[in-house]
Parts: sequence; structure tokens; C-alpha cells
Amino acid sequence: MFALRRQLGSRYYQTPILYRTTGQFSVKVLFTTSEAYPLIKTGGLADVSGALPTALRKLKADVRILIPGYPQVLKNVKNLAPLTVLHFIPQVGTVNLLQGEMPDSDTPVYVIKHPALYERDGGPYLDAMGQNWVDNPLRFGVLSHVAAVLSSGFSPLTWKPDVVHCNDWQSGLTPAIMKFFSTEHAKAVFSIHNLAYQGNFADIWVGLLGLPPQSFQPEGVEFYGDLSFLKAGIVYADSIITVSPNYAREIQTPAYAYGMDGLLRAQSAKLHGILNGIDDQQWNPQLDRHLIHSYDHAHLAGKLANKRALQQQLGLDMNTEGPLLAVVSRMAHQKGLDIVLDAASALLQDGAQLAILGSGDPGLEREFTKLAKDHPGRVSIVTGYNETLSHQIMAGADIFLMPSRFEPCGLNQMYGLAYGTPPVVRRTGGLADSVSDTDISTVKGASALKKGISTGFVFDLATTEDFLICVRRAMTLFQDKQAWHQLQQNGMKQELSWTHSAKQYMAIYRKLIKP
Ligand code: ADP
Repeated sequence: MFALRRQLGSRYYQTPILYRTTGQFSVKVLFTTSEAYPLIKTGGLADVSGALPTALRKLKADVRILIPGYPQVLKNVKNLAPLTVLHFIPQVGTVNLLQGEMPDSDTPVYVIKHPALYERDGGPYLDAMGQNWVDNPLRFGVLSHVAAVLSSGFSPLTWKPDVVHCNDWQSGLTPAIMKFFSTEHAKAVFSIHNLAYQGNFADIWVGLLGLPPQSFQPEGVEFYGDLSFLKAGIVYADSIITVSPNYAREIQTPAYAYGMDGLLRAQSAKLHGILNGIDDQQWNPQLDRHLIHSYDHAHLAGKLANKRALQQQLGLDMNTEGPLLAVVSRMAHQKGLDIVLDAASALLQDGAQLAILGSGDPGLEREFTKLAKDHPGRVSIVTGYNETLSHQIMAGADIFLMPSRFEPCGLNQMYGLAYGTPPVVRRTGGLADSVSDTDISTVKGASALKKGISTGFVFDLATTEDFLICVRRAMTLFQDKQAWHQLQQNGMKQELSWTHSAKQYMAIYRKLIKP
């Protein structure tokens, strides 16, 4: 766009485009993301990007997804066809834009086709060795530029979004690019799904990505001498959303902000926390195509049958008395799996079984593999990414473990609630917003269980001791079949779908585009 600006001179600032929506839709949104289920998924961002657009479209928002053309995306998007060519993208010149639809809905998808950038073996962010692709600033700089072009007066498309909704650092430059190069552009919403990933790169990328030199200052895109994609999104977006109200508060404090707390406090007037929902078509034990036995809150026998099938599949003893504890997670320091590892022998001694599905930190993978080897029939570890098994574990386990050190929202604890697998969580971020502790040793606690308020188990400190006390509370209640049944029902009856959250997003979009 920088090159385009030089070519067009002052015309760049005079594009007569009006950003007003008409017709059956109330607002037009370009939802820009680096992953979306079921096209490609590495974590919760994909779940959100798959489900939120659908929920918003049900509320009559014309949401269209923009995503890089990784091989999986090119393969999975329905009715994919060439749409247009975009010029003047820094470093790469031109990119082809394709259009298709999500495989399981009619949500339109714009795909950036650039084979050299996106069509390679490995993941969207990491190569086959687990290292960041060295050209990530370029790969996601291009995503950010394309989103900015499509959301400004320079777009060759007749469809002009009112709002560009950017997600995480990978599209964080978009609001900045729009502000620098165009007076007529959509409003920018920037969602932070995890502040720990900031997209900070050497300052040479400022020029390479066509950003004006004056943008590289503490009030702009500079973060301690680096270009920060995340900071660009925070500074230049019209509205910032993070994925739970509690995390929105936490990231304004030094303990959770990786140096960005002052910046976020300064931007607090435009910062909102909206709790994620879950896709109740994909994550619903009544409809789940990955399960051998379907069930719901009134018919929990199917859950026990799933437990037996899971034990058999994972080579665990076919014991139905002790609780089967489970983890499905990225193996990262954030997730506190080292705490699970430290507590494991005590929990096994108490009669629990443990099923782990995860990948990431090679040290943790090794330790869990050793644990499983030392406890055949009691511990199972599956490394790698396995969508089907993640559903089967959620259905077959009794208690879900999530001792995260921080957790912007977290989805697995909500899947646990929906599947009658009460979660044990640390009181942080979205975990604190979505799980309510159970303690029947007090009159108040017993009444909260009866009234449907208690849904899981919550502890405060990220220590083995606190975690162990909490899991033991859960295991004790597990032996009280009536109370446990009530707890499962409480979770399964929670309203966890996207409907409520999508309305909150709509309110923000509407406020931004109000004339
Ligand atoms: P995060 O986005 O931080 O990884 P979330 O709880 O928000 O954590 O979302 C994680 C998503 O990724 C969930 O849908 C979870 O089931 C899935 N997931 C994580 N690890 C695996 C794995 N190894 N195999 C299958 N699904 C996984």
C-alpha cells in the first residue's frame, strides 16, 4: 500500500467510498484470521473463527472470513474459485484472491493464494521441526495488508466491510496500515486471544512491510526496539476485545501483560472482555460424530459406555470405579502441565487413571511418556494433534484438568462442562469466568450444588499442593454418585453457545458504525 500511495499521490486520500450497510444485513464484517476450524486448527483461535462468524450471520451480520491459503485451506474450502488480483502488496507485489465457502456453512471465505508464502509442509506458524517460520513477519504482514486493502477505498471488490475484525498478532498490523494510508476505511476491531504471543520482530521489518518510519516510536508500533504486530493492533484499532471479562482486567496488570499493562490501561476505554462460546454443533455429546455412544444430561449411561471404549482404546485397565482424569492441551508452560506431572503419582496412588492428549514442549512429552511407561494400564499419553480423540477423551473421562498459569478464555473447560466431565481449573482468566467451585462441606456450598450453580472445582495457586487438594476434592465428590450426577447435570445445562456472546460483538460493531 505504501508503494500504491506513492503512485497515487493525494488521490490516495480522496477515495469516495461510503461505508454504510443496506439490505438484509445490519453490518458487514471482514473476519481476518490465521486459522479457522474445520479448515485448519492449532488451538482455540480456530474454534472461535469457525463458530463466531456463523453465530454472527444468524444475527444478520454479513461476516466473511479472510485467511491465508495454506494447503489445508485450499483443500477444504468449498467451491473455491479465483476472484481478483491485488497489487502493490509490499515485498510480494501481487497476490491472488480466491473466494469460496466454509465446508459446513454458507459463510463466504476469501483465501489469499500465494504459493511461496503459504503452500508448504508444516503448520501455519511452525515448520516441521517446531521452529517459527523465519518469514512469519512477511507471511502475516501480507495477511494484514490484504485485510487493510479489502477494508479501504482501494479494494477492487464491490463488497466493502463496515468493520474489519482482526484476530491476534497475525493480523495486528491491519488497523495501523489502514490508519496510515487511507482516510476512507472500515472500523477496526482487534481481538486478543492470547497476549503472550505478540509477533515482535526486528525493526528492519518496518521498512520491508511498507510502514512509515514515523510509525516506529513508542506511541506507535515500536515495542522495546522491535516492530510489534500485537501492539499495532492495540494502538490503532477502534475497539479491542479480549476473550473473557476477567482476562480483560488481568492484562491491565503487570503479572499478565508481558510489559503491555500500561499500554492496555491507557486504552481501557476501548477494551472489552467477551467470554467465548462453544460451537454447540461440533461440541455436543448428543450430536458428536466422533463418539461411539451419544448421550445427554438425562441419559448419562452413554457416557459410561464412552469411558469403557476409551479405556480399551488407550490400553487402560477396564476399571469403572476410580475416576479417569484427562488433559487435552498444548504442552506449554502456560497450561501448567508440569503441575499435573508433579501431582501424578499421588493421584495414581489415590486410585485415579490419567489420559493425556497433547503436543508441544518435548521435555513434557518425554516426562509424560515415561510416566505412562512406568504405570501401564493407569496412564496413557498420546502425543500429536488428534481431533477425534480429543472429543472421545472429553466424553469418556470423568474429570478434566486445566491448571493453567494464565488462560485468556479456554475452551476445553467449557467442553468439559458440556460433556458431563467437571473441570478442575485454576482461578484465572476465562476459567474463573466459566467454572463455579463446588464445596458441599458448607450449607451455602451444598445449596449452590442443588441450585445448579456449582459446575466444577477451582483453586488459586499454581502449585502442586493447591492443585492436589482441589483434585482430591473432586475425587471425593466423585464417590458420592448422587452429588456427582447433580454436578454433571449442572454443567451440561449451562448455556455455553455463542448466541449470547455474538450479541455482545454485534453491539460493539453497531456502536462503531453508528453515524
Ligand atoms: P489454546 O487456544 O490456548 O490452545 P483453548 O482451550 O482455548 O487453548 O483451545 C484449545 C483447543 O485445541 C481445543 O479445541 C482443544 O480441544 C484443542 N486441542 C489442543 N491440543 C489438542 C490436541 N493435541 N489434539 C486435539 N485437539 C487439541
